Amino acid sequence: MNCLLCHSDENKIYAELESFGFPLSYYQCDICGLIFQSPEKSRAANPEFYAETYRKVYQASSEPTAKDLWVQEQRAWNLTGILQLVSIGSPGRMLDVGASAGVLMNTFQEYFGCEVVGVEPGEAYRSYAESRGLQMYASLDALIEADTRKFDLVSMIHVLEHLPDPVGMLRTIRRELLSESGALLLEVPNFYAHDSFELAHLVCYTAHTVTEVLKQAGFQTVFLHKHGIPRSSLLNLYLTLIALPLSPGTETPPIQPDRMVQAKRQAGLTYRRVVQKLMPGKAWLPLPDEEEN
Ligand SMILES: [Zn+2]
Repeated sequence: MNCLLCHSDENKIYAELESFGFPLSYYQCDICGLIFQSPEKSRAANPEFYAETYRKVYQASSEPTAKDLWVQEQRAWNLTGILQLVSIGSPGRMLDVGASAGVLMNTFQEYFGCEVVGVEPGEAYRSYAESRGLQMYASLDALIEADTRKFDLVSMIHVLEHLPDPVGMLRTIRRELLSESGALLLEVPNFYAHDSFELAHLVCYTAHTVTEVLKQAGFQTVFLHKHGIPRSSLLNLYLTLIALPLSPGTETPPIQPDRMVQAKRQAGLTYRRVVQKLMPGKAWLPLPDEEEN
């Protein structure tokens, strides 16, 4: 089994647990420090998992739920603000990979007036987005076959941690889909604050390792923000990044290992327990269907 970042086969067990009733093993790469599951062993590395099983296992429903849509709306407004802050220019054409119910697409379409296209393997979510008039594809391959025009912005919001070959997928996006002056917008859970260990999370990213993945795929990170929106105003549960493609021909730099991962994870989770105890109302913000309780 090889590391999903540096491809070394030197690793050791980092954690063994159960998630949604399935046993999980996470490994840590001895060379680069990445925390990952074996894609060969994981159910979540099978494309059929996302077409049907994923949403049912996670939320007992294959349809978008009110809570899920609310989270997506909050994220969409946060990401809109970030794009304005970084001022990479208004995108003319935007692609959302792992578009879910299309909430981010609708928000960007409305706010930036851009043309939007989505890729979503989950059938019920894709149908929901289509029913709202959005142009959707079931896979990147289907999109690349059907439409060769490039995009000014490609977003992958809570997607990268699910991919068995994150570097390969990002390279494909850079070569086939992103315009030379385009930008990539990413969000992933932060291993130093978020639980991260979940059935469908093949990789647990830190700010360091996600930046290294981007470098290996030919991107330069120009913005990295740690935050808890919309779940917490104190815990940096998520990492949001903007990355730009390096000019063609730029040599891929050697991977810099993430160090002291275990200590930083412990420190992050200890901080989280303290904050939860001292300021529970800020540590975890209420979700809409929790408000009536
Ligand atoms: Zn590695």
